[in-house]
Amino acid sequence: MSQLQDNLNALQGHLKQFEGKVLPHRINGEDVISDKIMQSRSPVDDSVICDVAEGSASDVDAAARAAYHAFPAWRDMPGKERKKILHAVADAIVARADEIALVESWDTGQAIRFMSKAALRGAENFRFFADQAEGVRDGQTLPSPNHMNLTTRTPIGPVGVITPWNTPFMLSTWKIAPALAAGCTVVHKPAEWSPLTARLLIEIAEGAGLPKGVWNMVNGVGEEAGKALTEHPMIKAIAFVGESATGSAIMRQGSETLKRVHFELGGKNPVVVFDDADFDRALDAAIFMIYSLNGERCTSSSRVLIQASIYDKFVAALEERVKKLKVGHPLDPATEIGPLIHPRHLQKVTSYLEVAEQDGARIAVRGEAGGGSDAGGYFVQPTLYTDATKDMRIAQEEIFGPVLTAMKFSDEAEALEIANSVAYGLAGYVWTSDVTRALRFSDGLDAGMIWVNSENVRHLPTPFGGTKASGIGRDGGDWSFDFYMETKNIAIATGEHKISKLGV
Ligand code: NAD
Repeated sequence: MSQLQDNLNALQGHLKQFEGKVLPHRINGEDVISDKIMQSRSPVDDSVICDVAEGSASDVDAAARAAYHAFPAWRDMPGKERKKILHAVADAIVARADEIALVESWDTGQAIRFMSKAALRGAENFRFFADQAEGVRDGQTLPSPNHMNLTTRTPIGPVGVITPWNTPFMLSTWKIAPALAAGCTVVHKPAEWSPLTARLLIEIAEGAGLPKGVWNMVNGVGEEAGKALTEHPMIKAIAFVGESATGSAIMRQGSETLKRVHFELGGKNPVVVFDDADFDRALDAAIFMIYSLNGERCTSSSRVLIQASIYDKFVAALEERVKKLKVGHPLDPATEIGPLIHPRHLQKVTSYLEVAEQDGARIAVRGEAGGGSDAGGYFVQPTLYTDATKDMRIAQEEIFGPVLTAMKFSDEAEALEIANSVAYGLAGYVWTSDVTRALRFSDGLDAGMIWVNSENVRHLPTPFGGTKASGIGRDGGDWSFDFYMETKNIAIATGEHKISKLGV
């Protein structure tokens, strides 16, 4: 039997838990179903996977109240115990990693070769933040001439976590694990297009010993359930991953209740290839960072800027490789590009073919919709646009599909100008063997994360986040705790300093 058939058989077993049922919310350790119902469909063949409860403002209110009431006990639980529970969550994720990967591939269309790693990365996120749970409240001592200042941190309270549909499992763990390690309680609103693994995740967490109400989950659409969460007075902060325009809406919605916000938003990330770069490694990295995960990746290298002297050779090599990318069933381990998440998204991605033509770019590889399966589905072939200029829409807008835009530059100054000419500033990739130039260029690049002679290799203690329209705030390491916690300063007089006397 082929590996695809093996995976399909295993998937059938895992899907039984969803079939013929309504996927409920999870509030205070109980399943809750709303009056309104939506559906989850697989991008592979457009089949209905299951019905899903569509959360209302009153569902969100119940979840926020549960998180509010669970907060004091979770906050006051010794860090060592929180650490133990979060490690148990990580263990349970590892134990169900195959199931999570298969279900996520089916729900999102992401190829299994990437989803297997994403499930395990979810466990790593829990372990990394679990290990810090004991020390999160630690502060500094800052002595002044007359006072000893002590800083300490306390968890901010119940928080809302709103996640998107690309790699939903991993991204949920990335936001929720530090919140729980900090001592916050959580209401999670997963993306409506990919709700399944959020359910697996909360089930795993409760099974691992997380007390009732510490983590609640409400399904639903952004404009209703998401909006209600951002407006709820008991929710102290919103950690959001999604589109820049949604970030703006959340800021407006949360303004009345003065929400603290953390935004991880869109990107139009440049990979800049100088003529002294390791050509083959730069080529591999440029292709991997846009065509893996269907290009539905915030840190994808969706613009490649190539120095004029190697432009033709690099573009020819790109063209050859892009034509050979394997579009297919996401559960086939050989597949490199699976179907896109939703017909609306497929329409958006392919609409740029006309845009590129109108703007005068060359379509070196034309990625039309279709292929990949006989069973329908939202498949698209990869696209490569070349000879683009920086003002074209294909060089400015986040397409969020397997689509690369190639541009030429003559020198470092021009490369920097093109790289910085977009509204976004999430990541940048620089390929050169000149270390001085690498440092100088990285310094000038307006982005939150820069990789030199490397594709996106994450190290969890490092900061993750973007500048400009790509976000507000940083995750990773201690930066996550800055968001989920309040810092308090306690100043204790160390002697009898002079206090001015009034009204004497
Ligand atoms: P989206 O903004 O449409 O939706 C994200 C989430 O927000 C969903 O759960 C949705 O229901 C919810 N939402 C929508 N409107 C809302 C509202 N008014 N109030 C509250 N919640 C609302 O994003 P998407 O299409 O699901 O995801 C793709 C986007 O996410 C891309 O722009 C991508 O770059 C970005 N992303 C960024 C990062 C990062 O770390 N910077 C990571 C992954 C994805």
